[in-house]
Amino acid sequence: MGLNDNRNIVKAIRNMSDNELELYIYSLKKMAEVNVESNKMFLTGLNNLKSFFYKAAEVLMANLDKKYAVIVMDYANFKVVNEFCGRDGGDGLLLHTAKVLEEESSEESVLCHARADIFAVMMPYENQSELVDFIRRLDIRISEYKIYYKVLPAFGICLSDGDTRSVNNMYDYARMALATIKGKFYARYAFFDADMKEKLLLNKMIESDIVSALEKREIELFIQPKVSMLSGEIIGGEALVRWNHPEKGYVSPGSFIPVLEKDGLIIEMDMYIWEEVFKLIGERIKQGKKVVPISINISRLHIFDKRFKESLVSLSEKYNVPSEYVVLELTESGFLEDSTNIYEDMSYLRSKGFKVSMDDFGTGYSSMTMLKNQPVDEIKIDRGFIIDIEDTRSQSIIKHTVEMLKELGKSIIVEGVENETQRDFLVECGCVATQGFMYYKPMKAELYEELLDK
Ligand code: C2E
Ligand code: CA
Ligand code: CA
Repeated sequence: MGLNDNRNIVKAIRNMSDNELELYIYSLKKMAEVNVESNKMFLTGLNNLKSFFYKAAEVLMANLDKKYAVIVMDYANFKVVNEFCGRDGGDGLLLHTAKVLEEESSEESVLCHARADIFAVMMPYENQSELVDFIRRLDIRISEYKIYYKVLPAFGICLSDGDTRSVNNMYDYARMALATIKGKFYARYAFFDADMKEKLLLNKMIESDIVSALEKREIELFIQPKVSMLSGEIIGGEALVRWNHPEKGYVSPGSFIPVLEKDGLIIEMDMYIWEEVFKLIGERIKQGKKVVPISINISRLHIFDKRFKESLVSLSEKYNVPSEYVVLELTESGFLEDSTNIYEDMSYLRSKGFKVSMDDFGTGYSSMTMLKNQPVDEIKIDRGFIIDIEDTRSQSIIKHTVEMLKELGKSIIVEGVENETQRDFLVECGCVATQGFMYYKPMKAELYEELLDK
């Protein structure tokens, strides 16, 4: 029964006059019209995202026996098209895209213009090759659009499976697959696969568990000894964080640090590790045991934190640790990012007696001229430098780099020495210090202390 059939009931319930009732019905009709309009994209007339989710979900639910794919499409270079061909050129391309999508897809597909240059299709399929054919057809037909720029559509695809039958999820997954080929002109499409799913689940787990991990002391301090390649003696250590997850075991920092950096929690976690390091050194000094410097990693986010400098100074006071026992490692790219702040912070900390080390040297683009003026005591040469040490070109690069660094008066440590070939060549070049698996892997702090005590 529609509203018109129920006039009298509505009128009675709402206690309305005839005029009021007419006005009421008119306003309801208008609202319904506006709603239909607002579910369409203004330019192309395709469903907007909200209405796509709604309609596609209906189709999915009504056809539980069929397999569906959500394909998200995006132009790698739409900005360039807009800039060089004007707004009209850009709009024209979007209209052409909508037309191609409508013509190439079957009746059972649901189409969407999500925003700007992002489109989506949900379509039934039997096997994956159909989807690839579909994409190829789109690609060809889209390139028929006449502008003097080659347009580059890229596609991310997510297939419905047992636990992925939500359109919202499929859309997000397809976008993630798309993101993996962003900027790669040779790859035009990517399927959301098991690896991506695994990564996604891991990220979700990290996001939800990391805060309590800090509280529950699942975060542990590991230390990797640094050694002299001449004598094998331990000359220092690097503090490396480990997350001992109750179900997953040890989770590598490479997978959870990016998540922590995203929401700023890295600051809290670093503070925890730093405090453990100061505590450990302070205890050893108090007990008259052997002490060598330990480096701590400084995430680049600290540079924007006003308390950063002072917190290191107050830790050294709190635990009675002379600052020369703590080395601050900041990556080469970190030094390049916001040079004024970093220059000031690191200069200040050096004036307080801390040593500063440039980590992962060789992965960024600092020139020797820039290096000359950096407030840096030590250069930590990245593992990448020595991986293909048999190659004569690599050898000559290492030789010259080491010479120049020495001329600048910087200490040098090489990361990732794993075998004797690497060691022998480095010693020949005059490098003495290393941190590498050939000698020690990162270990629990207690083990490190036992080693030092020997
Ligand atoms: P990094 O600072 O460059 O640390 C050195 C990494 O190289 C460590 O990995 C270490 O285990 C590894 N490594 C050392 N020697 C060798 C070798 O001979 N062969 C190979 N294949 N690898 C070697 P790890 O512990 O997984 O740490 C990864 C990265 O996570 C670190 O790179 C650092 O950027 C970050 N990280 C670790 N702990 C912390 C922390 O407490 N705070 C912050 N902000 N970042 C941390
Ligand atoms: Ca480091
Ligand atoms: Ca490093």
